[in-house]
Order: sequence, then structure tokens, then C-alpha cells
Amino acid sequence: MGKINLEDPAVTIREARLGSITGFNGTAGELVKCAHAGKLHDCSRSFSQCLDCTSGKAFCQLSMIKDAAIVNHAPIGCAGDFFGYNFVYRVGQMQRGLPSTIGRYFNTNLEERDTVFGAVGKLKSTVHEVYDRVHPKAIFITTSCASGIIGDDVEGAANELTEELGIPVVTCFCEGFKSKIWTTGFDVAYHSIVRKIVKPPRKKTNKVNIINFWGEHIFDEMLEKLGYKAEYIVPFTTISQLKYISEASATIEICPTLGTYLGAALEQVYGVPEMKSPPGYGIAGTDTWMRELGTVLNRKDEIEEIIKEEHKRIIPIIEEYRSIFKGKTAYLTAGAAHGHAIIALLRELGFEVQGAAIFHHDPVYDNGESTSDALAQDVKNYGDVKNYNVCNKQAYELVNILNRLKPDIMIARHGGMTLWGAKLGVPTLLIGDEQFGFGYQGVLNYAERIVETLDNKEFVTNLAKHSTMPYTKWWLEQDPFTFLGGNTNVELY
Ligand code: SF4
Repeated sequence: MGKINLEDPAVTIREARLGSITGFNGTAGELVKCAHAGKLHDCSRSFSQCLDCTSGKAFCQLSMIKDAAIVNHAPIGCAGDFFGYNFVYRVGQMQRGLPSTIGRYFNTNLEERDTVFGAVGKLKSTVHEVYDRVHPKAIFITTSCASGIIGDDVEGAANELTEELGIPVVTCFCEGFKSKIWTTGFDVAYHSIVRKIVKPPRKKTNKVNIINFWGEHIFDEMLEKLGYKAEYIVPFTTISQLKYISEASATIEICPTLGTYLGAALEQVYGVPEMKSPPGYGIAGTDTWMRELGTVLNRKDEIEEIIKEEHKRIIPIIEEYRSIFKGKTAYLTAGAAHGHAIIALLRELGFEVQGAAIFHHDPVYDNGESTSDALAQDVKNYGDVKNYNVCNKQAYELVNILNRLKPDIMIARHGGMTLWGAKLGVPTLLIGDEQFGFGYQGVLNYAERIVETLDNKEFVTNLAKHSTMPYTKWWLEQDPFTFLGGNTNVELY
């Protein structure tokens, strides 16, 4: 963690900047204790099945800026993620009643000869072609392993093109090999935006930045009541909107794994206060988050009133759900901060959380505040979580653990993970929208979906009967952490 440095075109990766890790086996409490003591070491795996790519995560945030274009300076295979994000973009347009347009994504198609002779010329001609074809308000150039290894001067080319075309042509250094923590890609995308798109504020406005993916607009009503206006960033914004996110009264992050860098950068560079409490999931977590919102927006009395009304409305309903879920067990898999949010929701509803497979762990966020640690808040509010595993989507570990624990339900945040629960006959619920579980209403939303999932157990029971598993009996009898290199995370002291 350190000061945001807009002079450097590249961002320091999370492993080096925040001390983030991708391997841990223990309890949530042990992880928090080690992280807060500065004694967390990564525990690498001797076998890794898959990893996601930093470039894809940068693309995830940049690809839905409505009037920008992306040039991916890479071999064509790196552009495999265009399809998925174009799909999300189109669905998002339909949900928002926007005209349907396809994403403006291009690739320089680096080939073998380019890796020998360099490909800056190819990059420049691609950017020209993109400018002529779609007339974007800005062009982001995302780099790749290949362009990084051959050492193309992408920053120099982007600066020349900016002069020539009269629009920002912005580098986004997101070579996949640089970091095992793919969320570094979010930081890189935001770094590009803050460095080259955002302008100093002309005045303060009543807007509140909401750093999110593309979830529901749940903050509109509450902020309006408080005299503020929600500005959802970055997907579905325009370049001119992004220019003045520096004028907002505050920044809210739906998930600090996503927004840590942008929230800290806007506060450090332009003085926009960043909400530091973990996002509001579960009743206790929402109370804390709401009170900080009241302080930041100078609306303490109004917030106390809302808290009182909401408790009155939801607590009796939650009590009923708790009696339904009494004695039930749950397991979850998700990205870091959102995983912590799901733990809060499940514990609030009375589930025993048997364990979690969480993709990475940031011991601290870019704001440097220990109060932002959502996992620490979970442990404080609801007690420890056993079988807390930091696991970067290694399905073989997940399947082995699930097979042992056999929870009553599995909750997943990412589509590729749900099939493993279903194949083992475990009712599995996929919820991709972070906003769905946020705040007081979010607890009820989750409860309702969980009831539906548990009511439909027969579906996964039948599915399990008729499906095969690629993992052998041999593997399922091994220690799930056979390939996690020793228990070097925990320094006993
Ligand atoms: S940038 Fe590297 S890790 Fe990412 S898709 Fe391309 S080759 Fe793979």
C-alpha cells in the first residue's frame, strides 16, 4: 500500500502493493490475525489448474464505457473474452433501455513475426482504423503477455496518437503474466481512467460515485431522500461523465476488491471522500456502513431514522427465516470482498458456514485502513469461520472439500463454479449481482432465493445421479490441500 502515483503509466501489482495472496488454509480468524500483524505470506501451489487474466479484468471495466473503444494489443487468442463482455454489455443495455450496440473492441492480432520485429506500427495503424470506423471519444490500449515480453513502446505510441487524433489514447498495462491476482486488472483500468480521463474538479456536486459492475440501481432512492444523486461507475458511463467523477461528494464501493484503487485514487488525488467501512451486508454490517454514510454526507439524523425504520420492518421477517434455516449448513465460493459479504448474509440468516473458497485475500486496501477489512468485521460480528480457504478457482480443491463437507447449500458468485455443487447433489445458488444482497433488503432478497433453492433439491439430486465427475476416487480421498505448499501462511508468534 502506498501513495497513488499517476506519473507511472503502470500500476504496481497487488502482491507487491497490498501483500495480497492466493493460497491459504486455516480459519478466517487466523487469516485476519496474520494479515493485521503483517505476517501473511503467500502459499503457492505445486499444481494449478487454471488462472484468470489481469487483462480480462481491465477489459471488464473499460469495455462498457459507451463512447470509448478498446484496442487489445495482443495475439488474437487473448481477445477470447470479448464475446463474454459483449454479451453482458448487450444484456445491460436491454435492462437500462439503451439502444442496442455491439461493443467496440479490436485486437492487433500479434503474430510470430511481430514478436521478432516489434508491432508498434501495427498498433498505430489499428488505432487509426478504429478511430476512422467508430469515432470514439477515447481509445484504451490494453496490453498482453506478448506485447509486454517484446517490449513495444506502447506508452510512446499512445502519446503520439493522442496528439495526432485529438482524443485521449490511453495505455492500460495489464500483461497477464505479471500477477497471479487477476483483480490487479481492475486497478490498472482505473489507473488509466484517473491518469488520463479524469480532470480536476470545477466545483463540488451532490453526486455520489458508486463503483460497481453493472448491478441494479439500488442506491437511487435512498440518496435522493438524502439530497444526493447516485453516479454508477464505470460500466455504462461516458467519457464526459468520467471526466468529472472528481466533483462527487463521496465514493461508495459495492465491493472493495473491485473499487479499492479507484476509491483511494479519487480521495488522494482529488479529495473525494471514500467510504471506508466494509460494504453494507447483513444487519450489523449495514448499520455500520449507514452510519459512516451519514457522517460522510452530513446526514446523521436522517440515517438514524432510516436505520430505525428498517430494523422495525425487516427484523421480524428475518426471525422467521432464521427458524426455517436453523441447523442448516452452507459453503460458499466467491471473490474476496464479496465472499466476506456472503458470509455476513448467511450468518445473519442463521446458517452454519462450514467453509469458504475465496479467490484471493488483500490484507489491506489502498486506503490503508484496517476498519475496511470485511473479513475482520465478519469474525467480530458472527464469530470465526472454519475451513477458510484462499483458492484462486482451483476446482479440484473445491470439489474435494465439498465432497467432504456436503453442505445443505452452496452459494457461488461465478458461473463456472456452480456445476461442482450440482454434480455432487448440493443445491447451489448463483447470484452474480452484488447489489442484490446489499443493505437491509438484501438480507431478505437472499433469504427468499435460498428458500427457493432448498425447495428444489430434487433437481440436483437427479442431476448428481446422472452426471459423471472428472475426479477419481483417489483424488477425493487425498487431503484437499495436497498441492498447497505447506502451511507457510501462518507464522506462529
Ligand atoms: S494476456 Fe497473457 S494471460 Fe492474458 S489471455 Fe493473453 S496470453 Fe493469456
